[in-house]
Amino acid sequence: MAYTSLYRKYRPDTFDKVIGQDHIVRTLKNQIARDNIGHAYIFTGTRGTGKTSVAKIFARAVNCLSPVNGSPCGKCECCLALAESGNFDVLEIDAASNNSVDQIRDLTDKINFPPTIGKYKVYIVDEVHMLSKAAFNALLKTLEEPPSHAIFILATTEIHQIPATILSRCLRFDFRLVPNAVTAKRIRDIFDEIGVKYEREAVELIASAGAGSVRDALSVADTCVSYCEGNVTYGGVLEVLGASDPQKLRELASAIADGDTDKALRVSAELCDLGKSIPVLAGDLAALFRNVLYIKSCRNAKELLAIPESIYEALGEMAGKYSAARLMNAMKAMSGLEGELRYSSQHRIVFEGALMSACLGAQDSAKTEDLQARIARLERALSGQRKSDFNSAPAVRDAKQVWFHLASELKKQGASVLAITLQNAQFELNDGEFVIKIADRATYNLVCEKDNRDLINFAFSADPTTKGLRLAINEIAHIDEDKAVPYVREMFGGMVDIK
Ligand SMILES: [Zn+2]
Repeated sequence: MAYTSLYRKYRPDTFDKVIGQDHIVRTLKNQIARDNIGHAYIFTGTRGTGKTSVAKIFARAVNCLSPVNGSPCGKCECCLALAESGNFDVLEIDAASNNSVDQIRDLTDKINFPPTIGKYKVYIVDEVHMLSKAAFNALLKTLEEPPSHAIFILATTEIHQIPATILSRCLRFDFRLVPNAVTAKRIRDIFDEIGVKYEREAVELIASAGAGSVRDALSVADTCVSYCEGNVTYGGVLEVLGASDPQKLRELASAIADGDTDKALRVSAELCDLGKSIPVLAGDLAALFRNVLYIKSCRNAKELLAIPESIYEALGEMAGKYSAARLMNAMKAMSGLEGELRYSSQHRIVFEGALMSACLGAQDSAKTEDLQARIARLERALSGQRKSDFNSAPAVRDAKQVWFHLASELKKQGASVLAITLQNAQFELNDGEFVIKIADRATYNLVCEKDNRDLINFAFSADPTTKGLRLAINEIAHIDEDKAVPYVREMFGGMVDIK
C-alpha cells in the first residue's frame, strides 16, 4: 500500500477539524447556516495555514443536503458525488500553471453551465496572484456579474499583488499563522492515534519548526516518525532538522557574549568540521540568543518557549550573566547574517567575520557596562555627600549672601582691594553673628589695621541685609592640604590620581 503523508491523511474534512483559524471558520459556518453565501472570496495567508482545506470544506458544505453544524455531512449524495475527483462542480485550479487569459476565459465560460450535482459550482483558484493582467481582467468580468450558482474562492500568499478591482469584489479572509501550541496539540493527537511514542519537548520542537504552517510541521513530523523509528525524541528531531548540538551551541554563544574571539572561533571550527550547515548554525545561534532574551525579559518565558528543563536552566544562567543589550547585539549579529549568506558562496568566511565582529561588540559592551557601573557607584556616593551638604546649606547660603552684600558695599566705599582680598576667607552665620574667618596671616593683619577695620564696620552697618547682625573677624589656623587627601581618596577611589 502506498504511503500517505500525515499532512494528506489528516487534512481536515470538516470545519471542526480546522485548527488555528476559528475567526474564519465561525464566519463561514454562520453564512451557511443563514444561507447568506457570497459569490467571491479571497483567502490570504502564509502557506500551510489551511486556505485550500477550508475552501474545499466550504465548497462541499454549501452543497451538502444535510450539513452538520455548518460542515458537510460526508454521507449525502452531494457529499459523496463531490468527493469524486472527476466531478465538474468543485474545481481546483492552480493559477501558477494556468495563468493565461485563454485558460481563465475557458473557465469563466464553463461556470455559466449550471451545477450537475448540488446547488453551487465552486471554483478554487490557488496562487491567484500568478494570473496575468489580461487573465485578471477576464476574471473580473465574471466577478462583476456572476451566475447565481457560482462561487469563486481565490487563494493567495501574496495579497499585495492582487489588483484592487478584484479585491473590491471579494470577501476577504486573512489566515493567521497557527500558534505553536495549537500545532503541537494536533501533532500529539495524531501521534497518539497512530501509536507513535514521543517526548513532549520533541513535539514542541517539531511545531516550532513549522513556524506557523501546519503543513510544514506535519511534514517534519512525518520525517521524524520514520527517522526515530516510532519513538520521537528531542535529540532525534534536532538531528532531523540538522540543528546543532545544544551544548556546543551554548558554548559558542557564551564565547560570543564574553567577547572571547579565540574561543568563539575554536568552537565554531569544531561545529563546522562536523559538517554543520552555516546558515543553520547562524539561525540556531540567533534563536538561542532570542530564547535567552525571552527568559531575561518575559515572566512566562517557560510556557512560551517550551524547551526541555535542562536546556531552559542552562539558558537561564546565561540570562542572569549577560546584559540585555549584549544579548540583543549578539542576536542581531547572527540574525542579520541570513541575508548576507544568501548572496555569498564563502559562507565560512562571512560567518567567522560576523563572529569576530560580534565578539568585538561584546568587548565594547563590557567596557561600557563597567564604566556605567562605576558611574552608578560614584553617583550613589555623591548623592550621599550632597544630602549632607544640603543639611548645612541654608547657613552657608545665607553667610555667602551677607558677604556678597558686604563686598558690594565695600566696593561702593572705594575699598575694592579689601573686598577682593577678603573673598578667600570663610564666612559663617552663628547665632546672630556674622563671622569672617581668615586663615592667611597677611590678610588678617590687613583687616586689623584701624582704617580698614573702620571701613568694614561701616560697610557692614550700611547694608540692610546685615540688620541685627554682629560682626566678628577671627583668625583661624591654616588648613593643611594633606588633610583633604584621605577624604578625596575615599570618595573617588582609584579613579583620580592624587599627588
Ligand atoms: Zn452532505
